[in-house]
Amino acid sequence: MKTAILGGGLSGLTLARLLHEKGNEVVVLEAEPEYGGLCRSKSEQGFTFDIGGSHIIFSRDTEVLDFMRRMIAGNEQRNNRNTKIFYKQKYVKYPFENGLSDLPPEDRFACINGFVKTLIAVEKGEIPPPSNFREWIYYTFGSGIAECYMVPYNEKIWKYPTDHMSLHWVDGRIPRPPVEDVIKSAIGITTEGYTHQAVFSYPVDGGIEALVHAIAEPIENFIKTEFRVSSIKKSGPIWEISDGDEIIQADQCICTMPIQHLLPCLFGVPAEVKNAAGALRYNSLICVSIGIKGTVPDISWLYIPEPTMGLPNRISFPSGYSRHVAPFGCSAVLAEITYQPGDEVASKTDDELIREVEEILLRMHILNKDQIMYSSVERQPFAYVVYDLDYLKNIAIIKEYCREIGIPLVGRFAQFEYLNMDGCIRSVMNFVAGS
Ligand SMILES: Cc1cc2nc3c(=O)[nH]c(=O)nc-3n(C[C@H](O)[C@H](O)[C@H](O)COP(=O)(O)OP(=O)(O)OC[C@H]3O[C@@H](n4cnc5c(N)ncnc54)[C@H](O)[C@@H]3O)c2cc1C
Repeated sequence: MKTAILGGGLSGLTLARLLHEKGNEVVVLEAEPEYGGLCRSKSEQGFTFDIGGSHIIFSRDTEVLDFMRRMIAGNEQRNNRNTKIFYKQKYVKYPFENGLSDLPPEDRFACINGFVKTLIAVEKGEIPPPSNFREWIYYTFGSGIAECYMVPYNEKIWKYPTDHMSLHWVDGRIPRPPVEDVIKSAIGITTEGYTHQAVFSYPVDGGIEALVHAIAEPIENFIKTEFRVSSIKKSGPIWEISDGDEIIQADQCICTMPIQHLLPCLFGVPAEVKNAAGALRYNSLICVSIGIKGTVPDISWLYIPEPTMGLPNRISFPSGYSRHVAPFGCSAVLAEITYQPGDEVASKTDDELIREVEEILLRMHILNKDQIMYSSVERQPFAYVVYDLDYLKNIAIIKEYCREIGIPLVGRFAQFEYLNMDGCIRSVMNFVAGS
């Protein structure tokens, strides 16, 4: 049985490894010169940066977490999360509801007042159940937390109005603290939220790419890079997959690349399916990596909700995850900026982006200009799936079509779901177990 796997990101590589371990012949077809997808890292001038956004290894799924940790055994640094929200020039503990005592008093009052009033109104049945993400935020957290943090942050990262977003995905993804924790946090008693992420791992050497390299190690000879799949045909029982130059034949074809790239490779796709794929929303990512001489705050990463604080929605300090990602005496700073294909941010030059991020970091007193030793920009066309209100309808049409033609979809942009690394590996494990 020969299996062709389209896409050589974390999902494709894990799938290839697990199928190979089961005795399958595999080939991974990857468009880029390097495999790894969003989990690639680059090392330049002594700094190592993740180029698909700052990644950490964590999971509630113990089997998957054990797998990831086993892969980087001997190259693992364990870290305690110390994450903040940068709000009104202050560091507020993350999640926001666990950091209310860090807020200015008037915001603290607005947050706790809104939370309690909403809780009572919900109990009395005075507020109808939410029908979109924005309503869910108000319904769950009240107006204070919604307006200080949840709405501005979410609109900054998704680049999409929250009242046009579905809410089917929020459970388990967005921390929902017990009432006691919110009250404790408002009066200054320390509480922890989102605890399964409170301790996380990161490779000592090589950035997050070390994880995919370790996973790929037994199947490295079966990865074909610079093979951009452009057509997929079925000839009898055999799949014929081509990049325009070469044809790969296989008994089974599994897609881990974005469905937006899969459908144009197929012949006779019904208009309904094409339209459904065209209507799916996602956003793209710019990473501005900055290497500096000296230290940075002892913070894992910072969320930046306020539109007045420039383009980044998050700033990470990867030199706190591993002592080897910056030269001795230096630190690494990674700013993430999401954008929609074709928007104003998409057309900014690297120099403009670097200048804007440096200016924000100066305003935040994170660095001085004369500390900067290195800066670079990376772009990822597919970063986050955006769950709009028509998502469930559209994705069902596409998944049904791919099921009918016999191409399984596995991975973040193949399934078109908000899957972290653990979710991707879980999908792969489930697929292999059922195959
Ligand atoms: C900013 C950001 C931060 C994140 N942080 C974390 C984190 O801290 N922890 C965590 O667990 N997860 C995190 N994630 C999620 C994680 O990156 C993904 O879950 C995971 O990398 C998805 O892997 P994948 O293989 O499914 O997709 P991808 O990595 O997108 O891989 C798809 C592959 O398909 C290839 N491809 C595309 N078109 C073609 C074609 N025509 N022919 C051949 N190949 C093609 C691409 O080049 C790519 O290599 C983060 C994601 C982002 C955007």
